[in-house]
Amino acid sequence: MSAAIECENKGLTTMIIEKGNVVNSIYNYPTHQTFFSSSLKLSIGDVPFITAKERPKRLDALVYYRTVAQLKNLNIKTFEEVLDVEKNEEGFCVITTKGEYKSTYVIVATGYYDNPNTLDVPGADLPHVHHYFKEAHPYYGLDVVIIGGKNSAIDAGIELAQAGANVTAVYRGADYSPSVKPWVLPSFESLVRHEVVQMHFESEVVEITENEVLIDKKGERFSVKADAIFAMIGYHPDFDFMRKLGIEIDDATGCPTFDEETMETNVPGLFIAGVIAAGNDANSIFIENGKFHGCQIANTLKK
Ligand code: NAP
Repeated sequence: MSAAIECENKGLTTMIIEKGNVVNSIYNYPTHQTFFSSSLKLSIGDVPFITAKERPKRLDALVYYRTVAQLKNLNIKTFEEVLDVEKNEEGFCVITTKGEYKSTYVIVATGYYDNPNTLDVPGADLPHVHHYFKEAHPYYGLDVVIIGGKNSAIDAGIELAQAGANVTAVYRGADYSPSVKPWVLPSFESLVRHEVVQMHFESEVVEITENEVLIDKKGERFSVKADAIFAMIGYHPDFDFMRKLGIEIDDATGCPTFDEETMETNVPGLFIAGVIAAGNDANSIFIENGKFHGCQIANTLKK
């Protein structure tokens, strides 16, 4: 949306093609999530994002970005998936589930939240293994195992424990990750100290069955009961989609080939914006810095 606004500001005509709804990733965030970024930093297109508290909640952001779409009169095709982008002499032909569009330039800003990292252990694809946490209420009184030790895992752990789930957290690190926000960690640590959450450091899940999770803790193996497992182990860009479009991706880093000043990829006229520019190091680009990519692209196109 930010890229479209910046391009429109430069007199270009844009169309956003979105396979879900407007700001689909944010829609899929945990229902009660509070952003780490301030509303000021999340704002785009010079539209003020006014909230009572410094850090907005998911619902505030949904209202805000919907309002931006309306105010900026953005041409957004929702629930339409891009199947392919073909390069031709005039530019590109974008083929979607609903039609074909000609364009001079294409910006890929597909994020990474649709592609969760998965565990490579038996039982990892069982239906009670989740990679998204929505809300805790259904898990009251149930045994829940959380895998991972950064912000999604810690946030989910707090909410689940507060809702009366029996939470076991399994993290491969030797201590809490420095990535966990300092204003969030004390609540989690307190739950661990009071033995409301069972925390296992230096531990890995080695097998998941219908009712249990087998854990390896520094070579010692034991099982815990699990009605549900939240494998909050991060997300990655859709590398196959980018490669299909002709974008070169470094196998080791997951980084696409692009010019850091213009955001243009190795395919002339094809740009990238947002977290996909970071490859595997996805935690280095967020909304608050990725939103500036649109500006770089618009400046390049209208030099
Ligand atoms: P993440 O930061 O990528 O963390 C993934 C965690 O899973 C890490 O602790 C990692 O271990 C562990 N892990 C990765 N692969 C694993 C494997 N195969 N087996 C076991 N453990 C594995 O993912 P995230 O916590 O979902 O956060 C994603 C992004 O969302 C971040 O930018 C975060 O700041 C943001 N976020 C924002 C909010 C908010 O605004 N309120 C809330 C949550 C998350 P290591 O620690 O050893 O790497």
